[in-house]
Parts: sequence; structure tokens; C-alpha cells
Amino acid sequence: MDYGLKNKTAIVTAGSKGIGLATAHLLAQEGAKVAICARDAQTLAQAEKALKAHGGLVFAAPCDVSDKQALKDFASAARDALGPIQILVNNAGGPRPGGFKDVADEDWQKAFELTLMSAVTMTACVIDDMRAAGWGRVINISSYSIKQPIPQILLSNVMRLGVQGWAKSLASDVAADGVTVNTVCPGWTLTDRVKSMLSDDTAESAIKGEIPMQRLGTPEEIAAAVLFFASAQAAYITGAALQVDGGIVRSSL
Ligand code: NAD
Repeated sequence: MDYGLKNKTAIVTAGSKGIGLATAHLLAQEGAKVAICARDAQTLAQAEKALKAHGGLVFAAPCDVSDKQALKDFASAARDALGPIQILVNNAGGPRPGGFKDVADEDWQKAFELTLMSAVTMTACVIDDMRAAGWGRVINISSYSIKQPIPQILLSNVMRLGVQGWAKSLASDVAADGVTVNTVCPGWTLTDRVKSMLSDDTAESAIKGEIPMQRLGTPEEIAAAVLFFASAQAAYITGAALQVDGGIVRSSL
């Protein structure tokens, strides 16, 4: 199937590993020009090299997405390298885990900058290009926690709902300009970060026991949903939040 992404320009933030990197690979395979950022220059350089193997233009630069100025500089450099940005995948590392008594005031502020403001700032950098072109895709990597709160990750439960409220509002604002805004909600996904959390068999069995499919997802399975939202075929879908979670969300809607 042709997803209509050849020569489209895309930014994937936090794209050196895990779900972000898998997404960047799928976009590059479809012929999109891809820009990625992450904090660690070495991992980023490895990801850049791997992405270039698809044969297209790739831009990579270190950037902490919780640093507003760094994000603006990255967006501007990506635009200079690839052209006006048509697809934005807002991804970031998750905020600090813990329950209510575990998080301090500064953790709330950091989570706000990392999870909510990174998406708002990055989108503000590219949305006018999308509107002017009459075509654009903003896709947020969130979590199934926006449909079913997850114990012991209070900050993620709160901030991701903020992102969803913003995304739904933005979706209406830009719909008439041909720009869609959608959210992918991963369930438990086997990235390096999650593998390190599951070093103990009991923890892994407990998690699998909660998932109707009795397995964790792969980064590529999450990326496939992002690719669909980015595609020409998804032109009439906006404001949606799709869980890719092996069935862990039990609610009907
Ligand atoms: P990961 O740790 O495998 O990769 C995260 C990427 O983000 C890396 O490239 C890292 O360098 C980059 N990164 C982290 N903090 C950053 C920052 N401040 N600035 C720039 N780059 C930064 O993570 P993942 O498992 O692929 O998760 C991606 C997103 O999906 C996270 O927000 C995570 O909370 C969410 N999520 C993951 C799962 C899961 O099971 N893996 C489930 C639900 C939601």
C-alpha cells in the first residue's frame, strides 16, 4: 500500500530509541525525509546512521525536549535541512514515576515541561507551515493511561490528559486547513527502557497477566499506528486517541 508519504518532511522528537526510533524507521521506509532529536549525541548518531540506510534525507541533532529554546532551535534547523515540516510526531521520555506522596513540586513542573509543553512548543514551531500548505499531521505518542489511569505513574496520568485536552482543542482549530491531530496510546511495549524494568520474571508475568493478549507490544506495532495517522488514507481522522495495547484498556469507549 502506498501511504502517500514519499518526500514528505517529518520530525520525530525523542527519536533515537524505542517507539520514536521505530516510527522514524517506518516513515523513512515510506520515503519521508526525517528529522530526529534526543539528548544523547552518541545514541542519536547511531540512530541517524541506521535511518540513512533507507536511502532518504535524515537530519539529527541533540535536543532536550523539556528545553523550550533548544526545541525551537531544533525545529528551525530541521526545517532548514528538510524544508517546511508536514508531519510532527511528538514523543518524549515519560515523566518521573511514583504516587502522590512520591512527587515533589519540582517534579510536577518538570513533568509539565517534558510532557505537555514539549508538544505545545514543537507544534507551535511547525503548525503555520502545515496550515499554509493545506496539509499536515500532528501525532502525539501518549499512553493508555489517558483511558485508564496506571498505578504509580501519577505525573504521566495527569500530564498526558492535559496533552489530550490540548490535542482535541487544536484538532478543531486546524481541521479546516487540512491538518489532523491524533494520539497514539501505547500499552506495555518492549523497548529497552521497559526491558530494564522487567529484569525480574515475576514483574513480567504480573504485567502479562493484565494484558488480554498476554504479551507486550513491540515498538514497531506502535509505530504502525503512527504511520497510519500520518498517511494520506487517514485524512478524515482527527482528534482521535487510539490505544495499541493488546486489549489492556477495558472501557467500551
Ligand atoms: P525509550 O526510553 O525507549 O525511548 C525514549 C526516547 O526518548 C529515547 O530516544 C531518549 O533518548 C529520548 N528522550 C528521553 N527524554 C528526553 C528528553 N527530555 N529530550 C529528548 N529526548 C528524550 O522510551 P519508549 O518506551 O519508546 O517510550 C516513548 C514514549 O512512550 C514515552 O513518553 C513513554 O512514556 C511512552 N509510553 C511507553 C510505553 C512502553 O511500554 N514503552 C507505554 C506507554 C507510553
